[in-house]
Amino acid sequence: MPDNKYILEIKNLEKSFGDKKVLKGVDLKIPQKRVFGFVGKNGAGKTTTMKMVLGLMTPNKGEIFVNGEKVTYGNNKTNRYIGYLPDVPEYYSFMTPREYLNFCGEITYMEKKDIRSRSEELLKLVGLGEEKHRIKGFSRGMKQRLGIAQALLNKPKLLICDEPTSALDPVGRKEILDILVAAKEETTILFSTHILSDVEHICDEMALLNDGKIIMQGTIEEVKNKRRGNAIEIQFENKKDTDKLLAIFKKKDSSSLETTSSGALVVKDQKIVPEILRFIGDNSIPFIRIEKQEATLEDIFIDAIQNK
Ligand code: ADP
Repeated sequence: MPDNKYILEIKNLEKSFGDKKVLKGVDLKIPQKRVFGFVGKNGAGKTTTMKMVLGLMTPNKGEIFVNGEKVTYGNNKTNRYIGYLPDVPEYYSFMTPREYLNFCGEITYMEKKDIRSRSEELLKLVGLGEEKHRIKGFSRGMKQRLGIAQALLNKPKLLICDEPTSALDPVGRKEILDILVAAKEETTILFSTHILSDVEHICDEMALLNDGKIIMQGTIEEVKNKRRGNAIEIQFENKKDTDKLLAIFKKKDSSSLETTSSGALVVKDQKIVPEILRFIGDNSIPFIRIEKQEATLEDIFIDAIQNK
């Protein structure tokens, strides 16, 4: 019996469409109360995976457990733990947000008083508390926000959002990201995306799906640590100091030093760093910053896909 400290556990999941094998053995474990980024380029198989978690599609092989219970295709028992926001949510556009949540509560047999209090709480959370207009006039971002409120109505243990920010402008994206972070207080959020800056901003953990497999998983820090270079970058107040150090230290080890386009000195070999720092101190050379060079998730993502 799987341990339900993991709200979602996927084991060796495989899926083909015709002779096209989209998932080739996906393994994933998501602990409770996290914001988890499910990353992969378009067509990687993220939606396919999520649909199988929801029991809407049948896998060719493998098992999925939600809150420790096995997901069975066509039997939506495990969906009582899940709230789902599809990439393009559909609405009855003649309704107001309040009417829509009321309708959703009624068709899922929620108590009337619970519908009312939960709707108010959620409309406030997604910034639609004062909104009296009908959904038909809503922007894409407003529809997405209402979709999150609807998905959270039944207090799910797992909120699954399929590319919730992909079609939005930066302001709309930030609103959604802020809501997902706030929702972490009460649920675990699994959201798929190809926008790495979103993952970097709000996720506790991420997994990268590529060529049908998870090729990287961990906290953002762990993922970055795996690929982080050891280079140190030093920006001097005067460019001539960069040239001076370059001339002196390049003589000793020509391959370990270079400059950036902004004129900073890059020291690639850790061993000569103390010597360079001593030289800067002894000669009172003014500098603006000394820092470790960090790979962005973007660099890591491209690297991982090319070296798979
Ligand atoms: P993502 O969500 O990562 O963009 P998808 O899961 O939507 O990727 O799609 C993965 C691949 O599976 C794509 O090549 C897509 O064309 C294919 N695919 C998805 N659903 C079907 C389907 N019902 N029939 C045939 N091919 C499909």
